[in-house]
Amino acid sequence: MRKKIIAGNWKMYCGDPAKAAALAKGVIESCACQNRVEVAVCPPATALAAVVETCRGSSVRVGAQNLYPKDEGAFTGEISAAFIKALGGSLAILGHSERRTYFKEADDFINLKVKAALAHGLTPILCVGETEKEREDGVTEKVVETQLRGGLAGLSADEIGQIVIAYEPVWAIGTGKNATPADAQAVHAFIRKLLGSLASADVAELIRIQYGGSMKPENAAELLAQQDIDGGLIGGASLKAESFAAIIQAAL
Ligand code: PEP
Repeated sequence: MRKKIIAGNWKMYCGDPAKAAALAKGVIESCACQNRVEVAVCPPATALAAVVETCRGSSVRVGAQNLYPKDEGAFTGEISAAFIKALGGSLAILGHSERRTYFKEADDFINLKVKAALAHGLTPILCVGETEKEREDGVTEKVVETQLRGGLAGLSADEIGQIVIAYEPVWAIGTGKNATPADAQAVHAFIRKLLGSLASADVAELIRIQYGGSMKPENAAELLAQQDIDGGLIGGASLKAESFAAIIQAAL
């Protein structure tokens, strides 16, 4: 039985440590007194320390939204998996479509990030998903397969088993449009089957595959009820403790 994982991607919002700590406190108060669903929040790097401090002693995990795949060096403006780990972070969103689009991140670079995260004991949340044009062209599975093969290249079955995959159709992120539960389920089932061949049947059965893309309290229950949807990566609706808590409630 896979434990569902609901993670909040705060994007470039709530970077003020005091405001971020207040939001984290709200999340803890409204949802942390259960252990049936894993809950995580991923604030901007500037608020990571404050949110880690706020979440200490609670079951809410804290993660970063990105990392650079070297431990340290002359990489101005970047932060490493080692730094995130030292701060108390325990996961990292990698390959988010906003990073693929605006920062031209390619699968081989994302693969290095996944490896760096694993090397430092961070759980990577590896994001994959097609654009609207790619869906219209009927190449969703091909795109997702390329991203998964690239992002997971060179990893052992055991390493793949430590990763969370987030299927996020790009056209649904921040747009208010979401994939229908049936369409999302079909891609999740495809991903799980592919993981079976990239890792093993056992790993594919255990690995969590989140859906992301305008998940909100109104549509969460139906999406999360699908057989292969094991949680959500939530952007906009994670910025208010009440709506984030309602999604966690829907996962219970
Ligand atoms: C995201 O940022 O990963 C995301 C899914 O955003 P939203 O929920 O706002 O669509």
